[in-house]
Amino acid sequence: MITTPLQLFDTRARSLSPVTISDGDLLRIYSCGPTVYRDAHVGNLRTFLLADLIIRTLEYAGYKSILIQNITDVGHMSEDLHEDKLLAESALTKIDPFEIAREFEGRFHKDLALIGVRPAQRYPRASESITMMQDLIQELIASEHAYVGEDSSVYFDARSFASYGEISGNRLDSLQPGHRYEYTDDGAKRFHADWALWKSAGNRTEMVWDSPWGLGFPGWHIECSAMSLHYLDGVVDLHLGGIDLRFPHHENERAQSNSAAGREVVAQWVHGEHLLFEGRKMSKSAGNVLLVSEIIAKGLDPLSLRLAFLENRYRSQIDLTWDGLKAADSTIKRWRSKLADWGPSTSTAASEKIISECIAHLMNDLGSADVAIVLRKVERDETLSMGERAHIFREMEQIFALDLDRKMAAIELTDEQQHLLAERAEARSAKNYARSDELRDQLMALGVTVKDSASGQEFELLS
Ligand code: AMP
Ligand code: ZN
Repeated sequence: MITTPLQLFDTRARSLSPVTISDGDLLRIYSCGPTVYRDAHVGNLRTFLLADLIIRTLEYAGYKSILIQNITDVGHMSEDLHEDKLLAESALTKIDPFEIAREFEGRFHKDLALIGVRPAQRYPRASESITMMQDLIQELIASEHAYVGEDSSVYFDARSFASYGEISGNRLDSLQPGHRYEYTDDGAKRFHADWALWKSAGNRTEMVWDSPWGLGFPGWHIECSAMSLHYLDGVVDLHLGGIDLRFPHHENERAQSNSAAGREVVAQWVHGEHLLFEGRKMSKSAGNVLLVSEIIAKGLDPLSLRLAFLENRYRSQIDLTWDGLKAADSTIKRWRSKLADWGPSTSTAASEKIISECIAHLMNDLGSADVAIVLRKVERDETLSMGERAHIFREMEQIFALDLDRKMAAIELTDEQQHLLAERAEARSAKNYARSDELRDQLMALGVTVKDSASGQEFELLS
C-alpha cells in the first residue's frame, strides 16, 4: 500500500485523511455517473469534475489512477413520478428508451470533453451489466443478506448489516417508517428500511430482463456495487459522488458491497458539494437547469465553467451566476493572451517554489481556490520574469486544463462589431433566429462573416 500526499475529506470518517493506493500501483476510483434520460446539467458536471481534479493532481505528483464511471440507463426511479426516469421520458417523447439513453450518453461525453474532463477508463452501462448484478444478488441471497419477497422482488435486509448508517449518520434505529428511503412503493419488504435489489416487472414491458426470480429489472443501488466490485477487483480506494448521494444511495451500496465481500470495500467516500444557480440548487424540478450548450450559445468559453468551479473548493457550495461565468471567461482570455506574450517558460528556484506552494494547496483537500489566488498574484508580480510566470502557469495548466496555450485569434474587432456579435449570441441562445439572421447580415456589411458550429458562433474578418 502507498500513502499519497493528497488529503481528502472522508465523509464516513468525518475527517481529512490521506488517499491510499491499496495495491501500491494504481489508485482505484469509482465515481457515480449520470442517469441518461436528459442532458447532464452543469451541477452534475461539477461533480464529474472531481475525479478529473484528483487524477490530474496525483498524476502531477507521479501517481497513476484508474477510473470507472457507470452509466445509469435503467432502474433509477424518479422522486415525483415513482417511475423509471428513462421510461417516463420515453412515454413523454414516444422515443425508444434505449435510443434516449444513447443520445444523452453521447452528449454527456461531449460535455465532459468541453470542460476539459478526461475520459474514464470504462463507462459500464447498467443495461449491459444485468448478469453481473444478478450474480451479486444471488450471493446476497445465499449469505442471507437479501430475500425474495412475496411480490417476486428481491430486497436487501437492512438489519443484516450492523454498521448501516456510518456514511450519512442515518442509523436504522433512527429511521422511522414513512421516511423517504427510496422512490419505490413498499412492495413486500419485511422492514421499512429494506430496499429492492431486483424489482419484479409487474405491468412493465420495456427494459425488463429474465432472472431467477422472474421477469424484472435491477434497483439503482445494486449497479454501483456490482460494477465497482467487478471492475476494480473488489477494492475501491476512492468512491466519489455528489453530496445528495450519501443517503440512501451510498449507504445502501456500502451495505451491499461489504456484505458480499465480507470486509470494508471502499477505503474513502468523498462527496462534492452542490452547485446553486442564481441562488437556488440546480435541479430539473426547480427549473433552473443550466447546460454547457447554453453557456456556449452566450458566446462564453465552456472552460469558463471549469475555472468557475476550480475557484472554489469541491466541498463548498457554489452559487454560479452569469456574471461569474463572464468574469471567468475574461480571466481565461486574459491568461491566454498573457501566456502568449510571456513566451517560453523558465524554471528558476523562485518559480519552482511557487509551484510547490500550489501543489501543497492541492494536496490539502484540493485547494484549487488557493491555487487560483496564487495565479492571480503571479500574473501581476513584476518581481518574476515573464518566463518564470509562464512556467508557473504552464505547470498549473496540467491540472487546471484551461487550454491556456491556445492561440488567440489575432483579430481586432471594433466596438460595434463586438457588440453585434454578443447580441447575436444572445439572440441565438434565446432561439430568436430571425433576429440572429438579421444581425448576421449587419455583421456581414461590416466585414465579419459568422458561422454557427456545435461549439457556438465563430467569425472571421473579411480581408
Ligand atoms: P444524476 O444524473 O441525477 O444521477 O446525477 C449525477 C451526479 O450529479 C450525482 O453524483 C449527483 O450527486 C450530482 N448532482 C446532482 N445535482 C447536483 C448539483 N446541483 N450540484 C452538484 N452535483 C449535483
Ligand atoms: Zn452510484
